[in-house]
Amino acid sequence: QAPGGPQAATRMGVPGVASLIAVASGKGGVGKSTTAVNLALALKDLGLKIGVLDADVYGPSIPKLLGLSGRPQTVDGRTLVPMEAHGLKAMSIGLLIDEGTPMIWRGPMVVSALRQMLMDTAWGELDAIVIDMPPGTGDVQLSLAQQAPITGAVIVSTPQDLALIDARKGLAMFQKVEVPVLGIVENMSTFICPHCGTRSDIFGHGGARHEAEALGVPFLGEIPLAMAIRERSDAGNPIVAAEPSGPHAAAYRAAAAAM
Ligand code: ADP
Repeated sequence: QAPGGPQAATRMGVPGVASLIAVASGKGGVGKSTTAVNLALALKDLGLKIGVLDADVYGPSIPKLLGLSGRPQTVDGRTLVPMEAHGLKAMSIGLLIDEGTPMIWRGPMVVSALRQMLMDTAWGELDAIVIDMPPGTGDVQLSLAQQAPITGAVIVSTPQDLALIDARKGLAMFQKVEVPVLGIVENMSTFICPHCGTRSDIFGHGGARHEAEALGVPFLGEIPLAMAIRERSDAGNPIVAAEPSGPHAAAYRAAAAAM
């Protein structure tokens, strides 16, 4: 059976791009975009050619995370030239519309915007495009999962019960449209105080591993709640690029290798 099952096999892929990996979450604010960008950088560090596509129409944050500004160039007035940062090719809905424009998108508009960014961007030869999906499991997300030629999905969750309930819905959504779930990442796992070294499980700990085991999908690893991850992201220099030999980059690389 083709990756993604019979449904996915009928969806047209992106020429030159071997796989499309959706990074999704059951709800907003769990660190989906941060995880997507750092996983993309970790995959690149593993020797792959990687692009990032920001499909989070409700809050596109990839430009800020990668320190990108300005508008992408076009060739022949139609094909978009992806921007480049930290060795990744990138395209974002946030680069195509004015910052501050309210995002009042209906499902079909989101799906066609994503399709355009996927198909009308000159990505070149890539091993994978990591897609930062809109958070949640509503109609929009379902049609994206159904209509985009996604090869596999990664679900990001915090260890909290409420987030896990939503993560379970995300998993069910991808299973429904026969997109294989590559695994679950537990983000904002343990916090280690930079002052005293005490470990605190602010949102709990181990919930996502347990959930992955219960649901029979791979557990990809834990990313700690760390000040440096947030600070590096805010500065447009994600932790995997900024501190490649640090422990956080190692955690992202381990998750990427498990995908
Ligand atoms: P989402 O895409 O799920 O809405 P973001 O990736 O935008 O979430 O993250 C929300 C906020 O949490 C951001 O300020 C981000 O820097 C921060 N954040 C995400 N993951 C971590 C982490 N592991 N440690 C510290 N801060 C994090």
